[in-house]
Amino acid sequence: MIPGSFNYHRPKSVQEAIGLLAKLGDDGRALAGGHSLIPLMKLRLTTPANLIDLAGIAELKGARADGNDIVIGAMTTQHELIGSDLLAAKIPLLREVALQIADPQVRYLGTLGGNVAGGDPANDMPAVMMCLNATCHIAGKNGERRVAARQFYQGTYVTALAAGDVLTAVRIPVPAAGHGYAYEKLKRKIGDFATAAAAVVLTMKGGKVETCSIGLTNVAPTPLLAEEAAKILIGSAFDAATVKRAVTAAEAITTPAEDARGPAAYRTKMAGVMLTRALARAKSLAKG
Ligand SMILES: Cc1cc2nc3c(=O)[nH]c(=O)nc-3n(C[C@H](O)[C@H](O)[C@H](O)COP(=O)(O)OP(=O)(O)OC[C@H]3O[C@@H](n4cnc5c(N)ncnc54)[C@H](O)[C@@H]3O)c2cc1C
Repeated sequence: MIPGSFNYHRPKSVQEAIGLLAKLGDDGRALAGGHSLIPLMKLRLTTPANLIDLAGIAELKGARADGNDIVIGAMTTQHELIGSDLLAAKIPLLREVALQIADPQVRYLGTLGGNVAGGDPANDMPAVMMCLNATCHIAGKNGERRVAARQFYQGTYVTALAAGDVLTAVRIPVPAAGHGYAYEKLKRKIGDFATAAAAVVLTMKGGKVETCSIGLTNVAPTPLLAEEAAKILIGSAFDAATVKRAVTAAEAITTPAEDARGPAAYRTKMAGVMLTRALARAKSLAKG
């Protein structure tokens, strides 16, 4: 399939991009790596008359430390996340997740910002952003604002972004030194979206779980933060019975659709299996 015709714009700054999006209204659409948007255009499921390509905006690229946070520009590609020494040292979970997205060809162009902003619950980064308690930096015609990733996802393809907004960066607090982490993803084949996936970050102190955060991918209309499951684990010695109770609590908040990846009950169960594996691996990496 070939997309419908469109005008191509290549702004040099965020301000210029916002100006174009404001002027074009419903006829304009931000373009990042194009690996979600262009397939939809090829199927004529969306037909924007104007694409505003963010690729020429230098300020949207790269990762930098800012105090105890890491700020990652929206146009940083998944490939660049994998290759970043800063991220490998400070938030190794991101590399692990990025390596499980699609295949190298997609990752060379697909961006962190496009993955987060698209609002597709099948994307891997949204639940990970919730797990890491990231904050989305947003620029729009009324100025700049910040929205917690945990409040960003409102429905399938519906986010806190208003028409004409640009996600400029995500800000992630660096997890404590010695934290354990894991992302476990069940997929039918390389390059597939998750049947179910689970992200875990936890810290241990004196043999007990001190902090824990859990995100779930593609088992509801939005990415999920499994707060009750994390609460059950915090303060425990990570014994088998408590882990089982936590996994059951996480399964209980899932509402997956029945689709080509399996019936709803199967996908709920797989979310539990992925979480059990992610918890075990995160615990094995955690010091303390
Ligand atoms: C074969 C294949 C397999 C894939 N498998 C996976 C997978 O396993 N896991 C996974 O997570 N993803 C997967 N993807 C999706 C891929 O990761 C996409 O690249 C990503 O989801 C979107 O990023 P993008 O930069 O390509 O964004 P685009 O496709 O350019 O944009 C996506 C949407 O976000 C909007 N947007 C983009 N950037 C911004 C911004 N900065 N501000 C505001 N709005 C913005 C666009 O307007 C559009 O609506 C796959 C894609 C393909 C083609």
